[in-house]
Amino acid sequence: MTPSRLSTFFAGRGAQLAAIRHDLHARPELSREETETANYILQHLRALGLDPVACVGGHGIVAAIAGRSPGRAVALRAEMDALPILEEGALAYKSRHPGKMHACGHDGHMAMLLGAASYLASAREFPGTVYILFQAAEERFSGARAMLEDGLLQRFPFDGIFGLHNWPGMKAGHVAVHNGPVMAGTNEFEITFRADGGHGAMPHLTGDPIVAGGYLLSAIQQIVSRSINPLEAAVITIGSFQAGAAPNIIPDKAVLTGTYRAFSPTLLAHLRKQLEAATQHAATISRTTASVTFDGPDFPAVVNSLAEAELVRDAVRELFGAERLTTLPPAMAGDDFGVFAAHKPAAYVWLGNGDESAGLHQPDYDFNDAILADGASLLAHIAETYLLNNGIQVEIQ
Ligand SMILES: [Zn+2]
Ligand SMILES: [Zn+2]
Repeated sequence: MTPSRLSTFFAGRGAQLAAIRHDLHARPELSREETETANYILQHLRALGLDPVACVGGHGIVAAIAGRSPGRAVALRAEMDALPILEEGALAYKSRHPGKMHACGHDGHMAMLLGAASYLASAREFPGTVYILFQAAEERFSGARAMLEDGLLQRFPFDGIFGLHNWPGMKAGHVAVHNGPVMAGTNEFEITFRADGGHGAMPHLTGDPIVAGGYLLSAIQQIVSRSINPLEAAVITIGSFQAGAAPNIIPDKAVLTGTYRAFSPTLLAHLRKQLEAATQHAATISRTTASVTFDGPDFPAVVNSLAEAELVRDAVRELFGAERLTTLPPAMAGDDFGVFAAHKPAAYVWLGNGDESAGLHQPDYDFNDAILADGASLLAHIAETYLLNNGIQVEIQ
């Protein structure tokens, strides 16, 4: 039976996976800067006898693990990047790069995927191919697209893709698998208002970028509350507003940045259009000029396909028992795993990081080492189950 082989393999391996996780935690690198992280992963994959391909879409890495006979292919994905956060606390493996931190648990995701790879590379009790996929720059939402633009689907043609994300507030080791939407579609924007600038005592002689920004802040509150069906989820948030340097000067520029989120492409397009319209109104009323730039096309929501979601639930039941399965509503946070899921059948799975865990992106967050072995064996079991269900059947002893 596969589950018992898996539990034998991973019994006692928690400490080894934790050591890998701590190594990665101590060396966090920001999106698009994951050089040291990539080298660390390459070294580990090579030690497993694999021949990983580096620099797939920036610092991304793909390693193929061929099974014992021909068949379909499945990809398992983990993210590599950290966040610009100053880590709190006094962990022995605390970040050695001040101002950078693995505050989203990607250190744990990488350790779990390396664990799954070590099992799959040694057992190979499946037909087809498993692609072990390390994706860079998730937090900046550019890594998944970069991999596709680098020919990911042609060079490593997989039929389905799976990813795990730890989830604070959920019991450690419990698993939530959504049917359909999991995480919102998203985009980021930067809005700049410009005018001549002038004396604070003579506002009639210049447009006022600060007034424009203030008006925009109020105006966008109406986009979600007054133009979208209240039963649909949508968010627009301004995260920064920078303008001015002195009390008696009207500055020549104000810059606002923010993000919008929704689940359907239609609603994302609506938010974008209304944001542009509100910006133009703000510019007109304050006698400024305005420009809006977006972070490319909208990023799709993460949407699980039904068969893949059910396969993961089956894998959880077999490995851990049905009591480990739980349900939660989707989140408005985003993940560029949605880019992969837009191209191939996929499931993005939440793995509980514990009731007491600090939230993702918080300075006191830490990935829970107690779930590493379970996460690694779940990833491995998902891949084996996927290939055994869909590929050429083989006899397993
Ligand atoms: Zn994150
Ligand atoms: Zn994350």
